[in-house]
Amino acid sequence: MKLLEERIRQEGLILSDTVLKVDSFLNHQVDTKLALAIGREFARLFAGEPITKVLTIEASGIQFAMAAGIALDVPFVYAKKKKAVTLTEKLYSAPVHSFTRQETYQVSISQKYLGPGDKVLIVDDFLATGAALVGLVDIVNEAGAELVGVGCVIEKSFQEGRSLLEQKGVRVHSLARIASMSPGEIHFVEDIPL
Ligand code: 5GP
Repeated sequence: MKLLEERIRQEGLILSDTVLKVDSFLNHQVDTKLALAIGREFARLFAGEPITKVLTIEASGIQFAMAAGIALDVPFVYAKKKKAVTLTEKLYSAPVHSFTRQETYQVSISQKYLGPGDKVLIVDDFLATGAALVGLVDIVNEAGAELVGVGCVIEKSFQEGRSLLEQKGVRVHSLARIASMSPGEIHFVEDIPL
């Protein structure tokens, strides 16, 4: 998605060879028009699939899952990272190791909102090591739902996330794929000369 790549080039802060900060339009302040365009792009990429639900993980996947849900005219559900006192029903849970926070936490979804008969599109902001998305894939399988695919806003293609998901037979679409980066320099997958 050229528009997204341009924003990353203009406003992305490359903190190291592995960490990109996009807080001005994606992860802290959110460009609402861009978020809605991202949702429409996911809907276009997975057109023809009878998706019944979009699934993400709190917090930074929520705006893109909502945008995709609007474009597909289906609800979205976000997995919770902390067990609130209000989460009293039976849960699906999976452990996730966070790349940015360097800790392992449990993600949970109420069994009321996902089950056999659902056709699920998983959406998230970043695909890095794939741990978060593998956790969600495991939950979809546990629920007996069907996984249509995974849509990521930004993929760091030099990390193992995509291959981990593809090994599990998951269809992955990312809107911006970073081949490599270092402070002051970024290359997208399409940029690499053949
Ligand atoms: P993963 O499980 O694929 O390693 O990454 C999970 C989450 O870590 C992503 O959903 C995202 O919130 C965060 N993350 C991973 N890498 C980056 C990065 O380079 N920049 C930002 N802003 N978040 C990241």
